[in-house]
Amino acid sequence: MSTRTITHPAPPLEGVWSDVVGQEAAVAQFRRAASPEGSLAQAWLVTGPPGSGRSTAARAFAATLQCEHRTGCGACAACRTVLAGTHPDVTVVATDKLSIAKEEVRALVMTAQRAPATGRHRVLIVEDADRMSPGTFNVLLKSIEEPPPSTVWMLCAPSAEDLAPTIRSRCRLVTLTVPGADVVAELLRRRDGVEEQLALRAARAAQGHIGLALRYATQEGALAAREQSARTLLGLRSAGQAVLAAQELVDRATAEAKEHADQVAAEERERFLRSAGIEDGKVPPALRSQLKQLEDDAKRRQTRLVRDVLDRYLLDAHSVLRDVLGRQLGTGGELVNLEVEPEIDQAARAGDGRVTLGLLDGVQTARERIAGNVPPLLAIEALLARIAISLR
Ligand SMILES: [Zn+2]
Repeated sequence: MSTRTITHPAPPLEGVWSDVVGQEAAVAQFRRAASPEGSLAQAWLVTGPPGSGRSTAARAFAATLQCEHRTGCGACAACRTVLAGTHPDVTVVATDKLSIAKEEVRALVMTAQRAPATGRHRVLIVEDADRMSPGTFNVLLKSIEEPPPSTVWMLCAPSAEDLAPTIRSRCRLVTLTVPGADVVAELLRRRDGVEEQLALRAARAAQGHIGLALRYATQEGALAAREQSARTLLGLRSAGQAVLAAQELVDRATAEAKEHADQVAAEERERFLRSAGIEDGKVPPALRSQLKQLEDDAKRRQTRLVRDVLDRYLLDAHSVLRDVLGRQLGTGGELVNLEVEPEIDQAARAGDGRVTLGLLDGVQTARERIAGNVPPLLAIEALLARIAISLR
């Protein structure tokens, strides 16, 4: 006798937790800790894959801690200001650079020493806590070891292994999982007003990455570009094509990253000049080094963005190959890349599962190499050439 489990997405949570989707176990853990009977750890480590909602969950927890009704009602002034990022006792550090600067963490540690101004707790949220150097971890360590009684630290990272063991061992761990396409689609529909079919398509393509799903659903041409990339990948037949495709991909990622980085840099520059009272664009010598620092930051940010865009592409390539493998092994549930089904079927017939498994490994290797500072073009060329040869 066999039993079948039918799963439905859980009903949406209420209050500050309503946007934390597909994370029932983690939410229950947080709520228990924030309840009067719970024991509140003073250092938390929230882990989960990118886009799973780590910082959304951390903010929801911070709101629950500050909530006037102690429930995370979502309606009181404390809840609303925490979620809006304006509560005086909740500090969020986010970075879009390659690393979090030591000075930034020092300032944060000073803030952590202060008693809360209006709330019950002083909460410090560090998104991307994995982007700290060992030296910076040491600055943080002391404060996490002996925080003032009302201070709560929340570190977010992809996995616990991304943090120094000394830090890790002092934190209570909360693990988020990859949310299913159905709950992500439901969130896009409810929160962002995305039409149902588009929400589902975008959620499936984003493979549990909520921010990416929203982008696919709202940015003109983003889904189409993803499909085109899948077609290009499955159409590779020669090393020459692979070299061209790799170059095009890196160019596209660089352009996308540069556009974003330039925009942020221009805003920062303007803000800096305005705050220094400079209106004619003539920067006095005393301020030039600060401006130079801003420009250097912008360059580092662009480097990281290029890698992020390429990593996204590699994850897409991984999903395409996994679809091929599913067809080859006959294990296939629904394809992630339903729109390129004919090409996937064709690739499945052309090769065998063992080769495809090797290619999937190859994608992971390329991701690791790029994360480890191998020039992206080299890593991607090698991967695409390997794919082209096995699809021939
Ligand atoms: Zn509240």
